[in-house]
Amino acid sequence: MRLCRFDNNRLGIVEGGEVLDVTKALSVIPEQRWPIAQGDPLIANLKRVIAAAKKLAPKAKKRPIAKVRLLSPVPNPSKIIGAPINYDDHIAESIKDPGIAQGRTNIQRGIGEWGLFLKANSSLIGFGEQIRLRWPDRRNDHEVELALVIGRRGSRIPKEKALEYVCAYSIGLDMTVRGPELQCFRKSIDTYSVLGPWLVTADEIADPNNLDLSIRVNGEVKQDSNTKYLVYNVERLIEFGSAMYTLHPGDVIMTGTPAGVSPVKPGDTLHAYVQGVGEGDIRIAPAYS
Ligand code: MN
Repeated sequence: MRLCRFDNNRLGIVEGGEVLDVTKALSVIPEQRWPIAQGDPLIANLKRVIAAAKKLAPKAKKRPIAKVRLLSPVPNPSKIIGAPINYDDHIAESIKDPGIAQGRTNIQRGIGEWGLFLKANSSLIGFGEQIRLRWPDRRNDHEVELALVIGRRGSRIPKEKALEYVCAYSIGLDMTVRGPELQCFRKSIDTYSVLGPWLVTADEIADPNNLDLSIRVNGEVKQDSNTKYLVYNVERLIEFGSAMYTLHPGDVIMTGTPAGVSPVKPGDTLHAYVQGVGEGDIRIAPAYS
């Protein structure tokens, strides 16, 4: 099932070019008193929400998907985890291009030595919003990535069991300002984490380590690869991340980006695609702000 959040926090099932409004299914999410549990309440209750949504679907109001404003399908992840230099061809281009490497000399040592990084939750938007570039004097790059959505709490998860913790997949854009600062600073700017256009539940993806992914900028293909080229594949990333961080329902792991990262500018339109998940456009706002 493809699930989206749209307009004023409405819930939709995406079928073909339409959104079925099943917002009433959100009523199965229990109210929480302070302090609320870590994690996203929609994802923590996803099975119940989906069961309710299925009942509502036959009589649901339909809207063309182009007419709704898509928000991040996970509203409140407890964290967004990023994977640096996780495709060999992106490592190669990073070594070659000083605009990416920024003087770092340890790129070839790989993700095992770099570890992971966190992107601020406040940077998260959906495909119906706009990326607002900051730092106009700097290079701002797109990075298209397969995004994992964690379905249940877990710590020190062995890779053999890792996929049991994934409830859904989505497209992640790990927007990046190039520069010498830490990733958590440069990649956490407001609107620099894009998730969507919707979630596809894990049962629809037979093998997350064999999915085509691509991005076009104003129609021109910039990145075009497959998740089979991940250095740390999906299961190993979950093992690696959960060795350090307890994962909570709704946590997002952006799995890394292949070669072809390139600068974007105000007014550009990005078109991102992940096989089995879907595709969608997102705009770069027409001015720096
Ligand atoms: Mn990235």
